[in-house]
Amino acid sequence: MSDDFRARARAWLAANAPRRAAGDDEAEAESRGQAAVIAEQKAFQAKLHAAGFAGITWPKEYGGQGLTSAEQIIWSQESAGYDLPTGVFFIGLSMPGNTLVELGTDAQKRRYLPKMLSGEEIWCQLFSEPGAGSDVASLQTTAVRDGDEWVLNGQKVWTSGAQYSDFGAILARTDPTKPKHNGISMFIVDMHAPGVTVRPLKVATGHSPFNEVFFDNVRLPAGALIGEENKGWDAAVVMLRHERIAIGTMGSSRTSPLAFSTLRDLAAGLGRTADQGVRRELAELYARSRAVQLFALLLREETQAGRLPGARGSVAKLAGSDLGRFAGNVAADVLGDQLAAFDTAELAAVSTAIVAAPGSAIAGGTSEIQRNIIGERVLGLAKDPGVDRATPFNQLRVGTQREQ
Ligand SMILES: Cc1cc2nc3c(=O)[nH]c(=O)nc-3n(C[C@H](O)[C@H](O)[C@H](O)COP(=O)(O)OP(=O)(O)OC[C@H]3O[C@@H](n4cnc5c(N)ncnc54)[C@H](O)[C@@H]3O)c2cc1C
Repeated sequence: MSDDFRARARAWLAANAPRRAAGDDEAEAESRGQAAVIAEQKAFQAKLHAAGFAGITWPKEYGGQGLTSAEQIIWSQESAGYDLPTGVFFIGLSMPGNTLVELGTDAQKRRYLPKMLSGEEIWCQLFSEPGAGSDVASLQTTAVRDGDEWVLNGQKVWTSGAQYSDFGAILARTDPTKPKHNGISMFIVDMHAPGVTVRPLKVATGHSPFNEVFFDNVRLPAGALIGEENKGWDAAVVMLRHERIAIGTMGSSRTSPLAFSTLRDLAAGLGRTADQGVRRELAELYARSRAVQLFALLLREETQAGRLPGARGSVAKLAGSDLGRFAGNVAADVLGDQLAAFDTAELAAVSTAIVAAPGSAIAGGTSEIQRNIIGERVLGLAKDPGVDRATPFNQLRVGTQREQ
């Protein structure tokens, strides 16, 4: 069975998947236009799904393949050498998608999962706010009940891909009289609904990977709640677990512009492989990448087999983002005086990735937060005092908005 799957995956990838040079979706969107890049990625995701390689472990009744973690691992191995044009689906499938698989109602799974897998609908994750990032439980966006529905008001920030998303998984406060972790709920929000405004934010690379999103009396229908009302923190913990593993794995991606093989080839092309320092750094990059890849694979396999990674998800996330930063430094040394030359698409992709690399130590929870989790749950160190954990939210003074 697994051998058949491997042979099928290998043949399909060879016939259909582009081995394009490591690129950057954002740069591509700028040169070819975002609509063209999205259309191409939607078409590829549809093909991937039709061929039976999307949602490998998700249940068949919701559009998945109903296979096991063994096939998922085979797919990860076989597809590692390809640069699949599916970046716009990364967040939706890894985070809201996996969370819906675990916590969604049957109606939600039937409505949303098949269209995520077939590339018809793109999703984003709406957690962070101007005054609630590391301490996301301090969030101030509200969802107030109105009969069977809710009315959503507030602002999110750093929302990756909101500008082209159809739906988002959002955290909002539904009971401000409870302590901050206990009065939050998670909802599905239609990003095209009246009252949703998306404003792109420009970053150091010159691109706009994320956005500010404003909600002004946006109506959420009765079926929008993910999990239980006021138990959104539990749902957030599930999504953050998926996010840490997804980001931890991303840092070791073999198709990233900062991947070992890309930088090794680049060093050879630029005549830098005789430099002892560059050689040593490349060797270390190879060793660290392999360790991170294998650890992420182990966690993924265990999670798919029903064993939760606990604080090891934070270890994977921390190791993945540390690797990303290290790879950025190696790339800068490989490029030498070609750094920021932007002469070819490949050099431009590497230079852009160097500038973006530190972001991986912030996205999905900063490295300091991962270290806190590891310190408390793995090393048994004392917990942060958390003086605000028992006080009703509406008696706290938190965040930037409240100070206005
Ligand atoms: C590339 C990228 C993509 C992102 N995409 C999304 C997205 O799609 N959706 C979304 O909701 N968010 C997204 N984010 C936001 C991200 O989750 C937050 O930036 C992150 O959680 C940190 O929050 P903050 O920026 O408010 O920083 P803050 O929480 O204000 O932290 C500032 C500094 O203080 C440190 N710090 C804070 N608290 C502690 C503590 N208790 N102990 C020790 N140090 C502490 C932090 O480590 C950091 O160095 C993205 C961020 C990036 C960089």
